Amino acid sequence: MTITKLYATQNSWSMVCGHHQSPIHIQSSKSLPMDDDGTIIRHDLITITNILRDENTLFIEAKSFTQINGRGFHLTQFHFHSPAEHLVDNHLAPMELHFVHQSQSGRFAVFSIFMEVGAHNTAFQQLLDIINSDLSALPIMDFHAQKLFPKDISYYHYLGSLTTPPLTENVEWYVFQNPIFIDKIQLNQFRAMYHHTARETQPRHNRPILFYQHRKENY
Ligand SMILES: [Zn+2]
Repeated sequence: MTITKLYATQNSWSMVCGHHQSPIHIQSSKSLPMDDDGTIIRHDLITITNILRDENTLFIEAKSFTQINGRGFHLTQFHFHSPAEHLVDNHLAPMELHFVHQSQSGRFAVFSIFMEVGAHNTAFQQLLDIINSDLSALPIMDFHAQKLFPKDISYYHYLGSLTTPPLTENVEWYVFQNPIFIDKIQLNQFRAMYHHTARETQPRHNRPILFYQHRKENY
């Protein structure tokens, strides 16, 4: 087909989408070392501006600035899923935390952090207490998010989608290899409010999964 004939059919063109959905099952043995530098620079201190809550969802709107591989992103909100959405080597964590960022041009980047049962987490407890308080009186507040990140921020990176409608694609995912911990009481406290808030895993369709190995000097 010549170029001319191709362009003559453009009224019948349609976009192919739906092949880059999230979450997925990450098989670590199939991941590739990342060529890019991959450094993440984030701030432990974030500002919580609002909490949106109904019977289905809980979104904590927050502000912070993050650099991913040299590009700037603004934190917009974070939220939790129970159980986790991503599977890694057939393991499903009890919970998964999503920090949702957007770049100045509108590109989404999500940090995904698994939450396992272990030691008490004071930062998560602070959030549980806020969620259970009178949200109508919630002031804009500083929040120390350090305990919501693992120390070693090695991550898997792939291109996927939002996991709730409108399921927008071309979302950059950064799925941290190491979990954070909450205790059993905290898990039960969250699950009493929200449970089964996870989308099923979607086909990978040969998308590459990259692996970034945390280097101590970066953070
Ligand atoms: Zn999510």
